[in-house]
Amino acid sequence: MSFYGKFFKKILVFFCCFVLMITGVSCTTPTANQGLTIVSSFYPVYITVLNLTEGIGDVNVINLTPYTTGCLHDYQLTTQNMKTLETAHIFVQNGAHMESFTDKVVQNCPDLTIIEACKGIETLEHNPHIWLSFTPYMQYVKNIAHGLMTADPAHATQYENNMHIYLQKIQALKEDAAQTLDNLPSRDMIIFHEAFPYFAIEFDLNIVATIEREPDEAPVAKELAETCDIIKETGCSVLFAEPDYSQAAIDVIARETGATIHILDPITTNRHGNTKDAYLLAMAQNVKTLKEALS
Ligand SMILES: [Zn+2]
Repeated sequence: MSFYGKFFKKILVFFCCFVLMITGVSCTTPTANQGLTIVSSFYPVYITVLNLTEGIGDVNVINLTPYTTGCLHDYQLTTQNMKTLETAHIFVQNGAHMESFTDKVVQNCPDLTIIEACKGIETLEHNPHIWLSFTPYMQYVKNIAHGLMTADPAHATQYENNMHIYLQKIQALKEDAAQTLDNLPSRDMIIFHEAFPYFAIEFDLNIVATIEREPDEAPVAKELAETCDIIKETGCSVLFAEPDYSQAAIDVIARETGATIHILDPITTNRHGNTKDAYLLAMAQNVKTLKEALS
């Protein structure tokens, strides 16, 4: 073989190796062809993930629990839930003790990537309702976004862009809320369950009583009487019910004391549909309700 023949052969071998290397890499990218399945634990996490995955075509978002479940306090996983998790690449949960079933998920799906929205956020004791105030929710959004960027680096830029767009919308709503809730004649409120302390802290509202002390446990007669006494002592006359729970206890208190009932949405069911703006719509409504009730 001539010098030029050998040289040509070397170039050909190098070219073939290069082609094999390129095709080999693309074939081993697991999510490029199969798509990525992200499972959220419940509605507020689901809405957040919808915002962060907006426009990413090969990502499928599934909510684990029915949209009418409400908070997951004491929720038990079903067989169907476990089957859904077996199809998932990433599971995004609230954390801060909202999902009592996490250990079971880790045990049954050891390869599943789990992202915890509340990770590193300072929480009130045993209170996982972080999403119900803007500042901690913004960190919650960032935590999920960074988790997705790490778990799915192919779409990192898109997750990051979506995160910035969503954070800007939350920031704008937070500024509106601060203006709306400024200079209220009263800042005292009685809430149904421990869903709104983070919001109260952020906007300097005063929770004088919580009707349901333990999640999903109706108050006993003694507790109802105590709440009535607090209303009489403090003069606080506004009760905030939640649409996902029975209003029976709150009706009794209102009848006994003459206090008025208003509805705050803890955004744990899909009252505004499964649209990415559901959180923003619900929080805007909550701010409006508070303004009207406390004016
Ligand atoms: Zn709750």
